[in-house]
Amino acid sequence: MNVRIVILVFISIFLSISGYAQKTKELRSEHFIINYAPEAEGYVYKVKDDAEYFYRKITQGFGLIREKLWSWDDRTKILIAKDKEEYLKNFSCPSWSSACVDYRNRIIYTYPLQKDFASILKHELTHIIFREYIGYNVMPLWLDEGMATYAEYRDTTQCQMFVALIKKLIQENKYIKFKDINNTYSIAPGSDTSLFYAQAFSMVYFLKERFGRDDFSEFLSALRSGSNLDEALRKAFRVIENTEGFESNWKRFYLM
Ligand SMILES: [Zn+2]
Repeated sequence: MNVRIVILVFISIFLSISGYAQKTKELRSEHFIINYAPEAEGYVYKVKDDAEYFYRKITQGFGLIREKLWSWDDRTKILIAKDKEEYLKNFSCPSWSSACVDYRNRIIYTYPLQKDFASILKHELTHIIFREYIGYNVMPLWLDEGMATYAEYRDTTQCQMFVALIKKLIQENKYIKFKDINNTYSIAPGSDTSLFYAQAFSMVYFLKERFGRDDFSEFLSALRSGSNLDEALRKAFRVIENTEGFESNWKRFYLM
């Protein structure tokens, strides 16, 4: 790309974002700043209430608020476009998506009136809170996605469906072996993700339900202090000594 093209790209991105910003309104709450198209006015208060509620539920559920060294300093931004067309025009989100997230800058992009927005919000907010807490070191993808799917589905009817599916996959020896899933850092586009997400959910579900919130909180705290995955598992859950122990305890939990 030559210099002129680079400058033109920057100008067009700036114009499109500033054009969006000029037309938006703002609503602030304790942990969020919501910028929204005026057409989303009737919807934005529900987004604010849901976001604050899920923030509390996620931080309390994973035992993060008891950590004195950590506080949520900067508010997360939620940007709501007028509709899907404006969403795709203004934000660099995939065309199939209904929301997308910039974890490092803590911005969630979306548009109004999607029936599964609460579910999307829980999932994306968990990614932001989790990474803000433990930092941005490279971690196996199952941990990020397991945390987010656990927060998304734990209190829904889909939770028991995941549990039943995992039980069946273990019985038929069709699950992803832990030495493989521990070395998965991204999913190739177009690949079947349902097995991966179900198993990621089940790994966090096992640790959280089997050992409880305080041990799970200790596990996250160890990761935050720089322990690698095996060390953090050992420190927090004691009976799990390494990846093999994790796999055998996880299998036993679902086959009981
Ligand atoms: Zn995710």
